[in-house]
Amino acid sequence: MDITRRIEDYIGIVDRDEIEYIKELAENVKGARVLHINSTKKGGGVAEILRSVVPLANSLGLKVRWEVISGDREFFEVTKSFHNALQGNKGLKLGGDMIRKYLETNEINAGKIDTDADVIVIHDPQPAALISYKNKGSSKWVWRCHIDLSDPNEQFWSFLRGFVTMYDAAIFSHGVYVPRDLRGIKIYISHPSIDPLTDKNKPLSQTEIERIISKYGIDPEKPLVGQVARFDPWKDHQSVVRVYKALRQKVENLQLVLLGSFADDDPEGERIYKEVLRETEGLSDVYVINEHNDLLVNAIQRSMVFAFQLSIREGFGLTVSEALWKYTPVIGRRAGGIPLQVIDGVTGYLVNNMEEAYERALMLIKKPWLARMLGANGHQHVKRNFLITRDLRDYLRIHIDLVAR
Ligand code: UDP
Repeated sequence: MDITRRIEDYIGIVDRDEIEYIKELAENVKGARVLHINSTKKGGGVAEILRSVVPLANSLGLKVRWEVISGDREFFEVTKSFHNALQGNKGLKLGGDMIRKYLETNEINAGKIDTDADVIVIHDPQPAALISYKNKGSSKWVWRCHIDLSDPNEQFWSFLRGFVTMYDAAIFSHGVYVPRDLRGIKIYISHPSIDPLTDKNKPLSQTEIERIISKYGIDPEKPLVGQVARFDPWKDHQSVVRVYKALRQKVENLQLVLLGSFADDDPEGERIYKEVLRETEGLSDVYVINEHNDLLVNAIQRSMVFAFQLSIREGFGLTVSEALWKYTPVIGRRAGGIPLQVIDGVTGYLVNNMEEAYERALMLIKKPWLARMLGANGHQHVKRNFLITRDLRDYLRIHIDLVAR
């Protein structure tokens, strides 16, 4: 679904000064042709941000396009291994056939996508090799990395680094994700963001929330906790289920919701989904929902006492900002961008093990006033740091830095 957005729509959500500042920045790159390329139109955080940033930048006078590379199942299995290896799985080996598949798919896409633009932003490893087909000319190529490269599998990283160093610049979601041996190109840091006007984040009335969750059998009168996350091994649904089972011993009517979906480029999704179903089989009050539905994400995040985000590894963790924006505190692990969003004891709790997760969870269920307080802090924290307007400002600054006359 393509959306129409104007910067003025955000007046009242963020300060008017901020809007004026963004317009001034955009004046410096008016007419600039920007092309974003990633590997999926829906599912996952990258598509989520592009869906808003692209129309917004267009509304400010830039000429922005968004293209998606295509590939077969084998290609996405290869790039999933890249993803896992780059985020720290040292056991994976990069085989010659994987390299061949990766390069071949990038070559096919290079032939299909028109890369005539002033700034080309390539998202994540899947299309990174497109840089090899860069035309001579003044285009600036930027690699936008949404994953954590602080402790990568060396074999995979050294292969990818060959491409990354051909770029003019790279953008990382967090200073600590930048690999130590990446030198010779400009590095920018820009945290991801959420759009408060999408179906996923817009305000909902009590009636709407209750109507939506009731359709899935969730009882609005009983306390609800849960995790919204793709079915993916890094998201650690298992731990959420474990903590929930312990909580159930103390809070009889506690409900659990695990809402996830698979991205088009994620073959591991189905396996994890089935595992979660097996682990929760026979438990009443547990809702495992496999569906891509923004209003449902919205309603669930608004009706939980708190949200779990127990990911072992995380890029940034947009779901955390999404929950906090809705005044719902988050109990999370110290992975990726979670600690940027969950300030321990202020917007939620950071936990080191599942015993801690259990204790914090029980406390928030027993003390609704505390959950409310943390949730209100969370909303303010997101408003200041993780809204789409801030992300747009960062992109404009980077465009100015690279191409403004
Ligand atoms: N998401 C969704 N439905 C789901 C699961 C996730 O719409 O069933 C969304 C979620 O709300 C968030 C994005 O997908 O906007 C996931 O981004 P995040 O950074 O949390 O994790 P990623 O999937 O990129 O690892």
